[in-house]
Amino acid sequence: MTDLELALSRTWAEINLDDLAVNMRILRKTLTPSAKFLAVVKANAYGHGMIRCAKKLQECGVDWLAVATVPEGVELRKNGITLPVLCLGQADPGLASLMADYRITQAVGDSSNAKALSDYAQSAGKVISIHIKVDTGMSRTGFWWPSDPDSKDLTAREIFGVCNMPGLYAEGMFTHFAAADGDSDFTRLQLSRLLEARDYLREMGREFELVHAAASVGVLDYPAAHLDMGRFGLVLYGYASTETGNEESKLGLHPVMTVKSRITAVRTLPAGTTISYGRTYTLRRDSVIAVIPAGYADGVHRVLSNNYGVKIHGAACPVLGRVCMDMMMADVTALPSVKAGDVAVLLDGELAPIAAKNAGTIIHEIVCSPSARVPRVYIDGGKMSV
Ligand SMILES: *Cc1c(COP(=O)(O)O)cnc(C)c1O
Repeated sequence: MTDLELALSRTWAEINLDDLAVNMRILRKTLTPSAKFLAVVKANAYGHGMIRCAKKLQECGVDWLAVATVPEGVELRKNGITLPVLCLGQADPGLASLMADYRITQAVGDSSNAKALSDYAQSAGKVISIHIKVDTGMSRTGFWWPSDPDSKDLTAREIFGVCNMPGLYAEGMFTHFAAADGDSDFTRLQLSRLLEARDYLREMGREFELVHAAASVGVLDYPAAHLDMGRFGLVLYGYASTETGNEESKLGLHPVMTVKSRITAVRTLPAGTTISYGRTYTLRRDSVIAVIPAGYADGVHRVLSNNYGVKIHGAACPVLGRVCMDMMMADVTALPSVKAGDVAVLLDGELAPIAAKNAGTIIHEIVCSPSARVPRVYIDGGKMSV
């Protein structure tokens, strides 16, 4: 049996790299032509498989890649990625040698972190590239940009000091929006704070090659925030909005991931039978039930129990009873031809916003959900491989 056959025998995620390329081309056109295109491939490329996605994106001509952790960046390098890689998450300074040796550009949001990186770089005779993170209102990491002029001056001096630390090369400055998808006043305020920080540093004689602010929704909704680079995450994987998906979008993005399962058994059970743990569903009529070999250990949120529909033969089939660790059940009474071995679609572009809504979450979390047990199967140039 081939690895591909094995992957297609239970539950798998189909990742259409051709669609990823289509999305990249669509999104490139939304960005100011002079701005760089950064593709965010953190968290296993939002569940899509980091290495294969990164290779495809490199082939398609993106300018930068971003990860959340240094080990993710190291993995990219070990797999032949030569593009600049930005680590968005501030990292333990103990990883400084990896940043230097694997050419990972590191986000830095405070002086003590910067000092530790500088100390290492200087003692090892190496250089670490950094992007200064400015906290303009996300309140996560970054140099907090204050509102009164004296404090602004102090913060600017602190950033200036970091830029001049030996062994560090301060290539960029950036921020991250807290509410790009809802609060335009606050987003504009955050942008103005970043630009003000940039201007303070400029006054002191420090120019950054790359000043950036916008992630997916930021790029789409705030052209003024494009600056030198757009950071594309969820949109690249095919969703214009993390809540409504593409329902309200004219961009024509192609959702890249489809999760499928091969039905284990189709069973006819009498009215009155209860389904799954806790007996939360009772059949109201004689019914035909498909047993699907996917559960919460595969990334199907248990909160979708009795609260979701999978697609079988193109029709929506309600999930009956609790989602178990490794299995779930769906009602196929209306589809008499369904048999063991047929494919159920658990997640696609249409289902993702429903899964997000019913699970009380966002599409970001839904696409990150398929677990390590779910093999990723790639479609590239129309050909399928693992
Ligand atoms: C994850 C992340 C992104 C990408 O966000 P999307 O909403 O998926 O586009 C961009 N910038 C930073 C700093 C991030 O952490």
